This record gives sequence, structure tokens and C-alpha cells, in this order.
Amino acid sequence: MQYQAPTDLADVAALLASADGKGRVMAGGTDLLARFAAGMPKPDVLVDIKHIAELMDIEQASDGSFTVGAAVCGAAISEHAALCSAWPGVTEAMDLIGSVQIQGRASLGGNLCNASPAADAVPALIAAGAICRILGSQGERQVSVADIICSPGKTCLDSDEFVVSLYLPPRPPRSADAYLRLIPRSEMDIAVAGAAVNLTLDSADVVVAATIALGAVSPVPLLVPRAADVILGSKLEADVMTRFKSVVSASCRPINDKRGTIDYRNHVAGVLAARAALIAGKRAAREGL
Ligand SMILES: Cc1cc2nc3c(=O)[nH]c(=O)nc-3n(C[C@H](O)[C@H](O)[C@H](O)COP(=O)(O)OP(=O)(O)OC[C@H]3O[C@@H](n4cnc5c(N)ncnc54)[C@H](O)[C@@H]3O)c2cc1C
Repeated sequence: MQYQAPTDLADVAALLASADGKGRVMAGGTDLLARFAAGMPKPDVLVDIKHIAELMDIEQASDGSFTVGAAVCGAAISEHAALCSAWPGVTEAMDLIGSVQIQGRASLGGNLCNASPAADAVPALIAAGAICRILGSQGERQVSVADIICSPGKTCLDSDEFVVSLYLPPRPPRSADAYLRLIPRSEMDIAVAGAAVNLTLDSADVVVAATIALGAVSPVPLLVPRAADVILGSKLEADVMTRFKSVVSASCRPINDKRGTIDYRNHVAGVLAARAALIAGKRAAREGL
């Protein structure tokens, strides 16, 4: 295995193209190196992307949008006050990943491109409407995060493509997001279920926009527009939240495994989504005062 650490974006695409399907991008390596250790075949060329400035930067534009380099680690994200204030759900999801040591390496782009159904940051990015900038030897394209993962462990990226950055759009006033997950122990485990809610309130605290995304309850992270419809036009009253919970639970397509049965996961996803919606609602209401 040949290790390459380019400092230029164009060199990443060229290295991947010349490896002819046998190249692999490495950001923090917290998923990749564990997989090599578990016996996954090693690529001919391993391209370390952490030496490229664009991939390690967080930028805020004057319209309030953010562009987060795909290789920025969790610790740098948690320390970015403006990003944490604008997108508390995305940043708290990233902050849940691993330990202090893992946080110093693990990236947002790696969490997405690893394509695990239980990845914590992915539902939050989907609920946020995040968009990936992808570069390959044939040029550049932009793809919504919601369309990146096609099946467990697989993305829609070609073998010479990689994610450069994740774009978080500007948001209207009185908007906020939240992410919650349940794991069988207090940390360092894989989610039984995860739920992200991103919403906007009007001046009377009525929900005027909502996006709900779930993790670990289907082969790929799940958008639940039916659940969003339940809370639209409401003030997240108790009876609305009861209906919301049932719709979320009924939308899940989980598996039985040692972390939880199908029934348990369906139930937990509903509970988490309802709690996340109430947290997002409180955050959005505070923001507008
Ligand atoms: C002890 C431990 C605890 C963990 N806890 C959690 C947890 O609680 N929640 C959770 O979700 N995950 C967890 N993880 C998994 C992992 O840390 C995260 O998924 C992390 O975000 C991966 O980021 P990375 O930069 O290390 O990715 P890498 O390991 O570098 O890469 C992961 C995959 O994505 C590809 N890739 C990386 N960056 C790009 C890019 N820019 N473009 C294209 N492809 C790319 C790589 O080729 C590889 O296939 C844990 C891992 C460990 C070892």
C-alpha cells in the first residue's frame, strides 16, 4: 500500500484516477484503520486528505451559511462557536462520536462516506439540508447529503471522487436543530436509534418548516416527511407529539440485533424524535427573543 499526502485538491482526484479503482481516501482514519485491522483488503494507494487547506477549514459566509471542510475533525467543529450556535444539532451529533482521542481525528466527511446506517452526524446533516461538494477527475458536482449513501457501506461517489466540503445553508430567523441518540451504554457505542429534527417557528411559535431524519432504523439514514407534516402548523402540543411519535415509529425499517429488537428500535426512534423536536422548538423560540 502506497501512502500519499497531497497538499493540493487536484492531486487527490489525479491520484484516485491513476489508482484505477484501487485508491482510497483517508481523513481521520478512525473507521478505515479499524477496518484494515479487521481484515478489509488494503488499497494500492491510500490518499491522506488532511494536508489540504480547503478540507481543514470552516468558513462562514456573509449570508450566514457555513462551508465545513470534509476532513475537519470533531474537536475543531465543537470549538467553532458560530457554527455551534447556528447548527447545534449538527455539532452535537458530531460531538457524540467516540472519545476525546477519536474527536481529534474523526471528520464529518468520514462519518458520511463510511456510509454506516448508524452514523451519528448523518441524520443531522440530512435534516439540515446539507449539500456536499464533490470533486473527481471529470470535474465537480454538488449532491445533497440525503442522496450520498446508497446502501450500508456504499456511497454514490465514483472511485476517483471525494467530498471536499459540506455546505450548511443560511437559515431563517427562529430556526434550530437538535440530535439525540440512544446507545446501550453511556459512550463509545453504536446507536440503537438516532433522530435529528430541524425546524423553523413563526413569531407565534407555530412550526412553519420541519425536516426529520433518523439513523440506525433502516439500511440508510431515513428522511421522514410524513412526520414533518404532523408538526407543521402546530406549537408542538402534547397531542400533536403523540401522533408525531407514532408516525415516526411506523416509518422505521430496522433490524433485530444484539442492540435492540425491531419493536424496541421503532419505539425508541419515536421517543427520541419527539424529544429532539421539543429541544429544537425551545432553541428556535429562544433564538428569536
Ligand atoms: C472507538 C470509536 C468510537 C466511535 N464512535 C462513533 C460514534 O459514536 N458515532 C459514530 O457515528 N461513529 C463512531 N465511530 C466511527 C468513526 O469515528 C466516525 O465514523 C468518523 O466520523 C469517521 O471519520 P474519519 O475521518 O476517521 O473517517 P476515515 O476512517 O478516514 O474514513 C471513513 C470512510 O470514508 C471515506 N472517506 C473519508 N473522507 C472522505 C472524503 N472526504 N471523501 C470521500 N471518502 C471519504 C474513507 O475512504 C473510508 O471509507 C467510532 C470509531 C471508533 C474507532
